[in-house]
Amino acid sequence: MHRKSLVELAADLRAGACSSEELTRASLERIGRLDGRLNSFITVTEQQALDAARAADARLKAGDAGPLTGIPFAHKDIFCTRGVKTSCGSRMLDNFPAPYDATVTRKLLDAGAVMIGKTNMDEFAMGSSNETSFYGPVKNPWDEMRVPGGSSGGSAAAVAARLVPVSTGTDTGGSIRQPAALCGITGIKPTYGRVSRYGMIAFASSLDQGGSFACSAEDAAIMLGAMAGFDERDSTSVDRPVDDYQATLNAPLQGLKIGLPKEYFGEGLDAAVGSAVETALDEYRKLGAELVEISLPNAQLAVPAYYVVAPAECSSNLSRFDGVRFGYRAADPKDLADLYTRSRGEGFGAEVKRRILIGAYALSAGYYDAYYLKAQQIRRLIREDFLKAFEQVDVIMGPTAPSTAFKLGEKADDPVSMYLSDIYTIAANLAGLPAMSIPAGFVEGLPVGLHLIGNYFAEGRLLNAGHQYQQVTDWHRQIPQGFE
Ligand code: GLN
Repeated sequence: MHRKSLVELAADLRAGACSSEELTRASLERIGRLDGRLNSFITVTEQQALDAARAADARLKAGDAGPLTGIPFAHKDIFCTRGVKTSCGSRMLDNFPAPYDATVTRKLLDAGAVMIGKTNMDEFAMGSSNETSFYGPVKNPWDEMRVPGGSSGGSAAAVAARLVPVSTGTDTGGSIRQPAALCGITGIKPTYGRVSRYGMIAFASSLDQGGSFACSAEDAAIMLGAMAGFDERDSTSVDRPVDDYQATLNAPLQGLKIGLPKEYFGEGLDAAVGSAVETALDEYRKLGAELVEISLPNAQLAVPAYYVVAPAECSSNLSRFDGVRFGYRAADPKDLADLYTRSRGEGFGAEVKRRILIGAYALSAGYYDAYYLKAQQIRRLIREDFLKAFEQVDVIMGPTAPSTAFKLGEKADDPVSMYLSDIYTIAANLAGLPAMSIPAGFVEGLPVGLHLIGNYFAEGRLLNAGHQYQQVTDWHRQIPQGFE
């Protein structure tokens, strides 16, 4: 069963070839047997999943089922789930059963999808390797000595190892696309405002966006379609109907104009990754697309601007974790100041503290103009570069990450080199654009991701381009050894 796509499983459920309870038990069995090697789950919600599966089976029988009814999914532990621990990968929230469901959680459960558990992630989604999690690192199923990427590494590894057919993620600077690339699966981050952030624990609110992981663009489209939509409880949610992402999957790519930013193919890109990407681009030529070189002149400013804006917003967002209202509280405080400082000092890990310190510094009175204001101005320039490019092309493509999965521990002590893992992904968050990674080959047995960036609300276009590529290639069907 684990070799089947979401579309195939949904068809089996409707035809009565299997039940949701069987699918759910099969997923739980694989997690029990294989996840000890990967550490991709923080919490497995076995009883709740079986109850949901039985309810889904009743819906299927009654003829009241949608495409996700009865399908098991893994949920990033950043989304609030009522009564279920929602840790965000942090000691700070290790004791936190969320009192309510995030909008995304609610939408998926209402669609009849079966939540199998909550996935491991970098602490508060800060990281590119899953090594900052309080619950220990996640391993890459293609090579267990290597990282799965981050911050949504657990969600990516769980799909790559076929523990579940689909999962959720969030992407502030690349946290869906980079782990999708490193694990050889499909991951899409939609336009900012397309998926509600209500109940999605905030890292950097102007950049955070939820999205989906799957083995194929088609499955990712179904999952994203169920997650997306206007939500009056999120003030940045966009009130605009959700496109039918499945309806456009089969549109031919004849005449599609693909822009290749010269800045994404230069120094810093691993040569073998670059040539795998070139081969993928040739496939698009064969599909009838026209490839043109473009320039995003401010591309090299994306990482520095992000590492001012994201820490600034996180220093504000994470001030709510004070040891008083919820989360970790230090034992036997002497006084209020001691309660605050020790609760935060003991509850947060090193990377989170580093970001809070950078952010508080960048926002402080004497430095605001020099750092935060400047970063916001750069952000505008980056957005303008993209808008100009989209006057000329329909989709922008390049590598998702500069290298394949690196070894555990390899970059853990070198934050700047870690930050550069997101050099190609961050600009889409700064501009609020939709972007996706699809599997596009292997280098020495490790997956390579092709990155697609679209214009605002062009998720359907990206999924279509991904799906067409997946009709003529089979990278997305490869399963890591030991997980077949
Ligand atoms: N790796 C980036 C960071 O550490 C992006 C993380 C994310 O997208 N949540 O901030």
